[in-house]
Amino acid sequence: MIQMRWINSLPLAIQLRVFLMYAACVALLVASILYMSGEVLSLRESLSAHLFTLGTVVGENTTGALAQGDPVLAQKALLTMGGDPNIRSVTLYDAHGKLFVNVPFDAQASSPDAVLRDWSIPDPAADGPFIRYRGLIRVHIQAPILLGGERAGTIHVDAELTQLYTLVERSLALMSLALLIAGVVVYVLSIRLQRILLFPVNELLRVAREVRESKDFSVRGVKHANDEFGDLTDGFNAMLVELEKRDMNLRRHQSELETRVTERTARLNEAVAGAQMALKHAEAASRAKGEFLARMSHEIRTPMNGVLGMTELLRHATNLDSRQRGYADTIHNSGTALLGIINDVLDFSKIEAGKLQLDIAPFSIRELVEDSLDILAERAHSKGLELLCDIPLDVETAVCGDAQRLRQVLINLVGNAIKFTERGEVKIEVNRADNNDTHSLFRFEVTDSGVGIKPENCATIFESFAQEDISTTRKYGGTGLGLAISKELVELMGGQIGVVSTPGVGSKFHFSIQLAIDHATVRGQRAAVLRGTRIFLVDDNSTSRKIVAAHLKSWGVVPTVVRSSANAIEILDSDATARWDAFVIDGQMSARGGVSLATAIRCRPSHAATPLLLMSKISATPAAEPAATGRTAWISKPVRRSQLHARLSSLMTSGQSSTSSVRRATPVQMSSIISLSQCRESRIKRVLLVEDNPVNQELAQAMLRELGVESVSAWTGEEALVKLAVDRFEVVLMDCQMPKLDGYQTTRRIREWEHRAGRDRTPIIAVTANALNDDAARCFQAGMDLYLSKPFTLEQLFQALESFAPEMETTTDSTVLNPSADSLALDERVVIRIREMQRPGNSDLLVRMSNLYRPNSATLIERAGEFIRAQDYRGLASTAHALKSSSSNIGATALADLCKSLEECADSANRRMAETLFERIVAEQARVLRALDVYCASTCVSATA
Ligand code: ADP
Repeated sequence: MIQMRWINSLPLAIQLRVFLMYAACVALLVASILYMSGEVLSLRESLSAHLFTLGTVVGENTTGALAQGDPVLAQKALLTMGGDPNIRSVTLYDAHGKLFVNVPFDAQASSPDAVLRDWSIPDPAADGPFIRYRGLIRVHIQAPILLGGERAGTIHVDAELTQLYTLVERSLALMSLALLIAGVVVYVLSIRLQRILLFPVNELLRVAREVRESKDFSVRGVKHANDEFGDLTDGFNAMLVELEKRDMNLRRHQSELETRVTERTARLNEAVAGAQMALKHAEAASRAKGEFLARMSHEIRTPMNGVLGMTELLRHATNLDSRQRGYADTIHNSGTALLGIINDVLDFSKIEAGKLQLDIAPFSIRELVEDSLDILAERAHSKGLELLCDIPLDVETAVCGDAQRLRQVLINLVGNAIKFTERGEVKIEVNRADNNDTHSLFRFEVTDSGVGIKPENCATIFESFAQEDISTTRKYGGTGLGLAISKELVELMGGQIGVVSTPGVGSKFHFSIQLAIDHATVRGQRAAVLRGTRIFLVDDNSTSRKIVAAHLKSWGVVPTVVRSSANAIEILDSDATARWDAFVIDGQMSARGGVSLATAIRCRPSHAATPLLLMSKISATPAAEPAATGRTAWISKPVRRSQLHARLSSLMTSGQSSTSSVRRATPVQMSSIISLSQCRESRIKRVLLVEDNPVNQELAQAMLRELGVESVSAWTGEEALVKLAVDRFEVVLMDCQMPKLDGYQTTRRIREWEHRAGRDRTPIIAVTANALNDDAARCFQAGMDLYLSKPFTLEQLFQALESFAPEMETTTDSTVLNPSADSLALDERVVIRIREMQRPGNSDLLVRMSNLYRPNSATLIERAGEFIRAQDYRGLASTAHALKSSSSNIGATALADLCKSLEECADSANRRMAETLFERIVAEQARVLRALDVYCASTCVSATA
C-alpha cells in the first residue's frame, strides 16, 4: 500500500479506474492460475495411468520371453512402447530382480542402475505396483508381471511427461487473452462508473471554485440524487448559506466601521486644525510675550538708566555732605538690586521662550570660580562667614563652555548660601569625575552651614517663584527666580542640579556638567621656588587649613599645620631653635587674632625676619602692622592659588614687602578710581545725541558733559537727519526705540544719505534698552557701529566714545604716552593682575606677554584683512574671536569689544560694516601696542631703580 501512495496525487477519476482494473486483473489471474493448476494435475494423472496400463500390458506380453529366458523376444515386445513420446526407457527384471532387458528410447536416458538409484529403489522386484512423481513431469512406474499368479518379473518405465508443457503454454495464452478482454471490459465499465460517481463531486468542486473566484456566497450546488452525494451537496449548500450570512454581517460591520473611521478622521482633522490654530495662537502669544518682554525691558531700563546714571553722577559730585552721599548710595544700591531682579526676570523669560543660547569659549575653571568668589567675598566677610574654595589640582584645566552662564549659576548658589547662613562657612568645591582627554564631567558643590531646607521643599525650590515659605521672603527677600534660572542654565549646559539639606545644619547644592577640555590653552608651570621649603600654617578653620595645606604640599612645601594661635605659640616655645622658611596665618582667628599671633612671632628674634603671610577677609582691615613689614604681606580670602604662590614666592625670594601692593585698593576699586579720573578726558569733542526720553536725554547730556564732550540733542529721527545734514559731529549716540522713525530706520536713512551725498561715514553708537540676543545683529544690520545697553556707566560710555577717537599724533619715541589716550587702551585692572602673577627672579611677565601679543595680533589682523577681501566670513569670525581672546587677556578691552563686534558682523556677512570695524581695529591695536610700550618701559625703569 505504501508503494501506492503516488496514486493519491492523481485525479479521482484515474484513481478509480486504476483501482477497478487492478482488482479485476488480480481476480482473473488468481482464477486462471487455480484452474490451470487443476488441469495440469489431472492431465498428469491420466498420462501416468495410461503409461501404467501400457507397461502392464507390454509386461504381460513378455511373460513368454521371461519364461524362456529370451531377452530378444522380450526386447521386441518392449519396443512397442516406443510410440509414446513421454517414455525415456523401459527395463525388464526377472522374478529375482535381475536385469533382463533394458530398452532406452531417449539418447540421454540413464542406465537401469542409475534409474534405480535415482528413484531410491533397492530391489526392482520387491514391491508391488507404484507410480512415483518427481517435479511436475518426471514419473517412474513399476508394475509386476504375473504368470499364473506367480511373479514372473517386473517392468520399470521411466518417463518425462513433456506433453504437459504444451498444455501449460496453451492455457497461458488463453489466460492472457482472457485478461486482456477483462481489462478492456473493466476499463469501459470504470468510465461509466466514474461518470456516475464523480459527477456530484465535480459539481461541488465547480461551485467551490466559483465561490472562491467570485466571492459570491449565493451560488448553490445542484443535487442530482438522494444518496450520500446528495447529502453532501445539501451540507455544502447549508455551509454556503451560513457563509453568506456571515459575509453579509461582515460587510455591514465593515461599512459601519468605515463610517466611524470617516467620522473620527473628520473629528481628528478638526482637532489638528484646532491644534494648529492653537499653536499659531501660542506662537503669536509667545512672540507677543517676547515683544512685551523687549518693551517692558525697554520701559523699565529707560527709567533705570535715569536713576542709576543720575545717582552715579550724584555720588561722584564733590559738594555733597555725608548724609546726602549716603542717600545717593542707597538709591544706587537699590537701583542696582532692582536691575538685578529685572535681569533675572529677563533671563527667565528668555529661557522660557527658548531664546537663550550658550556662548562657548575657552576659560579656566579655577579662575572662573575664584573670580566668582571674589565678587561675593565682601558680602560673606561682612557677615563674618568663612568663604572657602577647594579645587583639586586636576581641575586646574582650561575647558570650553559658557563661562558667563556658569559664573551666573555659581554666583547665585554661593550668593544664596551666604544669604541663608548666619555663622560658619560657605564652601565651594569642584571635582573632576574622570580623566577623559576630550570631555570631562565636573561636579560643583556649594556647601553652607546655614538655615537649611526642609526635605519636602528640596525639589520645589527649583520651581520659578518658589521660596521655602513666606517667612523667607519676609526675612531674606528675593524673588524665588534664582534657582529656577540656575536649574534651566545647568540643564541647558547638559547637566543636573540638586540639593541635600538638613534644617538647622546647612545645605549642599550640587550640579555636574560635561565640559570639553581645551588643549590649546597651555597651563603655566609654576616655578619650583617653594619646593622643599618649610612653612608654618596656622588656621582655626579646618576646611581652609586643609585647602591651603593641599596647595602648599602640591608645590613641594613641607607644611607644619597648626589649628590655633595657642598651639602655634606652644610649638614655637617648645623648640626655640626650630626654623621655618615662612609663616602663613589666618588673620581673623576666633580665639586670638592672627595679627596678635604675627606680632608674637615677630617678637622672637629667630623669626623676626621670617616671611609672614596673613590671610584676611576683605572687610577686615589689618590694624597694627607687625614689625618687619618688609617681610610681611596680606592676602585676601578666599585664597586664590595663583596669588598664594605669587605672594609666598615674592616674600621668600626678594624679601620685598608686598604689603603695599596688597593693601592697595582692590582691583575693582582701583579701576573705578582710575576710570573716573580718566573719564573726564574724552578725545571725542562733539556728539549728536538722538533721544526722545527727556530724563535719558538729560542724563546722557550730563554724562557727556562729565567727559568733556559737547552734545547737540535731537528729539526724533527726523530731527537727527536734519541736524546731521547741516552740522558736523564726530559720533552719533542713537536711541533705538523712538516713536515713528526709530533708531534703526534713522540709521539706515543716514547711511543712504551719506552714500548719496558722498559724505564721510559718521560713527553711530546704538543705545538700546532691549536685552534680547538679536539686538546686536539688528544694530549692525541697520549700519550702526557699536552698541551700548542701558543702563550704562560713565566708564562704558567713555570707552565707547574712545573707540572712535581720531589717531593720536605719535612722536618718534614710542614710549611717550598721552595718559588720557593711549594708556586707556589697556584696562589697568588686568595689567595689575598680570603684575601680581609676576614670579620673582623671572623675566618681566608683562614684557613677555607683550612680546607674544605683538606678532600674534599683527598676524591675526593681517589674516582678518585677507578674509574680508575674500569675503570668507567664517574665517573672519574665528580670526576676530581669536584676536578678541588674546586682546582681553592682555587688558585691551576696547579692542576686544571691537573684535566682538567684528565677529558678530561676520555672522551677518556685512562687508561694509566689517571694513569699517577693521579700520578701527587696526587703529586701536596701534594704540594698544603704544600703551604696552609705555607700561613695559615703566616696569623696566622701576626694576632698574
Ligand atoms: P531667592 O533667593 O531670590 O528667593 P532662589 O530661587 O535663589 O530665590 O531660592 C529659592 C528659595 O530656596 C529661597 O527663597 C530659599 O527658601 C531656598 N534656598 C535657596 N538656597 C538656600 C540655602 N543655601 N539655604 C537655605 N535655603 C535656600
